[in-house]
Amino acid sequence: MPISGLPPYDDNNIFARILRGEIPSNKLFENEWALAFHDINPQAPVHVLIIPKGKYCSFADFSAQASEAEIVGFTRAVVVVARDLGLEAPGYRILANQGEHGGQEVPHFHVHLFGGRPLGRMVPRE
Ligand code: 5GP
Repeated sequence: MPISGLPPYDDNNIFARILRGEIPSNKLFENEWALAFHDINPQAPVHVLIIPKGKYCSFADFSAQASEAEIVGFTRAVVVVARDLGLEAPGYRILANQGEHGGQEVPHFHVHLFGGRPLGRMVPRE
């Protein structure tokens, strides 16, 4: 049972289907640990999603269940994608939504990578 409090991993979630090639994606990067593709509904000039290849439904699930090699491989992939996009010098933001309050919609762990302009406050003031 995942640690996250979310239901068990759903093999039919959108990102699982993208990983299997059943749904197209605008792919930027792929290695044995991670796949990166443009978000379908970008919230910044650069908005990329980076997902691990393994079946993890959330950050908590990934951190608890993934091997050290997967965690290192995935983390480094995020940095490589940001660097390849030319975001290292101007800067960027990474974000992972977890569960209901986090606003997580797709139950396959993913990191959002935003950049291309000053990104403002971390969290909107309600
Ligand atoms: P979450 O709210 O789960 O952190 O973010 C899910 C993200 O996935 C959203 O930003 C949404 O726009 C993106 N998304 C949902 N469906 C698709 C899809 O089929 N293709 C791509 N490229 N992005 C998607």
